[in-house]
Amino acid sequence: MSNAEHQGEAQAAFRDASFLRNPDTRTVKMAHVLRADGTPACGLHALMGDPEPAERIRGVLRCQRAGCRQRWPDTDPDD
Ligand SMILES: [Zn+2]
Repeated sequence: MSNAEHQGEAQAAFRDASFLRNPDTRTVKMAHVLRADGTPACGLHALMGDPEPAERIRGVLRCQRAGCRQRWPDTDPDD
């Protein structure tokens, strides 16, 4: 994995809740923007799935908590 290629390009990941017995399907399926260290920008402490470009995440699935909210790209694949 080359980090240099992705500088300036937001990465995002879905919370991996596969270890939960009763995952909350309303919040579990939100995607979070990742900081450089791979943790969610909103401060969520959770195991995250595989990172992918934030611009590919549909708008309805984007975490809107402070931290993540202002980091999403303007582009929405649904547009
Ligand atoms: Zn978030």
